[in-house]
Amino acid sequence: MAKANKNTILIRVIIAIILAVIIGYYSQGISIGGLQLASLYEMLGQLFLNALTMIVIPLVASSLIAGIGSLTLDGSFGRLGVKTFFYYIVTILVAVLIGVGLVSLISFDQFKPVLDKMSEMPTNIQLPSSGYDLLKQILFKIFPSNIFLAASQGNMLGIILFSVLFGLGLSKVSGPSQGTLLKFWQGFFAVMMSVTHIIMKFLPFGVFFLVARTVASGGFASFSSVGFFLLIVLLGLALFLFVALPIMLYMRGASPLKYFRAVSPALVTAFSTSSSAATLPITMECVERNAGVSNRICSFVVPLGTSVNMTGSALYECVAVLFIAAMLGIDLTIMQQAMVVVLSLLTAMGMAGIPSASLISLIIILNTLGLPAESIALIVPVERILDMFRTVVNVASEAGCAVMVARWEGENVLPR
Ligand code: ASP
Repeated sequence: MAKANKNTILIRVIIAIILAVIIGYYSQGISIGGLQLASLYEMLGQLFLNALTMIVIPLVASSLIAGIGSLTLDGSFGRLGVKTFFYYIVTILVAVLIGVGLVSLISFDQFKPVLDKMSEMPTNIQLPSSGYDLLKQILFKIFPSNIFLAASQGNMLGIILFSVLFGLGLSKVSGPSQGTLLKFWQGFFAVMMSVTHIIMKFLPFGVFFLVARTVASGGFASFSSVGFFLLIVLLGLALFLFVALPIMLYMRGASPLKYFRAVSPALVTAFSTSSSAATLPITMECVERNAGVSNRICSFVVPLGTSVNMTGSALYECVAVLFIAAMLGIDLTIMQQAMVVVLSLLTAMGMAGIPSASLISLIIILNTLGLPAESIALIVPVERILDMFRTVVNVASEAGCAVMVARWEGENVLPR
């Protein structure tokens, strides 16, 4: 994408957000001909989300098959996997440590428990009952028995494994069909990228309706009681996004400024959709076309990162558990705090990139620590707004990992 074009999209999206906040605010409670404006915005925003989500599976499958098919031909697949997981783990760990650090610097004790909020606890959440069940659930997602069912359920981990196997299998096929198939999947992927490009033209409209929906339905209104928690999480996310990640990029020889320029359309999409999975097509477009990361790296690091590299979510979970414990007047031991770190890391690695996925992981962590799961009601008022910000960090981290792995692999991406 040309530079001027990139900037125009960003400016349009920023204007859309500002307009959405103003118009959304004045649309609260207003209906036209019996139709609530908030639900009209919701429907139109959902159309945009559907368009994005619709192409996720074919985009991920074709990009992985084409990418891995050519990767394995030169034997570099294993090495890429190791480098990718190195950055996934480093980024999540840094984020979680920022969370723990902030909480230990600031005391929550002066903020009195608001236990009557517990009645706001969502009731219809399906939970694994033990650590073993959780592990089983994740493994069954990675190894589904029916790939079409997995695709129709949006099971990204299953699709990823199948596509990786397909790519590996493709590299082992001998004869002319190998080249033909590889070309087919490369062509398929190119088409999906063009479709992404078309959908991106509607980005300002999609963002407008999604943000207007949230504002018009009072989504930003009720967070005064946990304002302090909100600030700590925002501060942590900002520290990761504007300090830790740029330092990591810089250390790999990339220019943080160029990085933000390249990925900003993906970040605003993440903000307005609260879903890193729905943002995936745009993240890939930014990483490949704007940042110039090769397809073989982008197609592996970014889609897998959508399931595994939930950096912002890990930071959020960690702060949330420590906050809840403080609000309940429970002192966590050092061992328990270490467990919070490990559990935040693990649950964030198996999370779906959908809105509010963190709430489920949070309940799992609370259960494991023996804290009352109902207490997530304490932070529900700020869930929506924090979801938007942590999704931005999730997407920024996936894209950042792709850039760093690419540089590590010798690609001169976004040089500083
Ligand atoms: N909404 C987040 C995402 O899609 C996941 C979460 O933290 O709830 O990346």
